[in-house]
Amino acid sequence: MTEQNQTNPGLQAQDVHWKCGNCGRTTCSQTPPEVCPACNEKCDFKNVTCYAPECGGPGNIDPRL
Ligand SMILES: [Zn+2]
Repeated sequence: MTEQNQTNPGLQAQDVHWKCGNCGRTTCSQTPPEVCPACNEKCDFKNVTCYAPECGGPGNIDPRL
């Protein structure tokens, strides 16, 4: 089993921006919402958090995604 430990020492738990694949709504939380707050459905959420300095670094949404 290669299970990743979620409590990564030294790495701060950071909120992630999730974008609904259905309506495009973005929410900010550590895990994708089970139900989209806009669609009220179990949508497909994509991580659109920016990890590059070009768009402001973590905490911002990558505009290309
Ligand atoms: Zn949605």
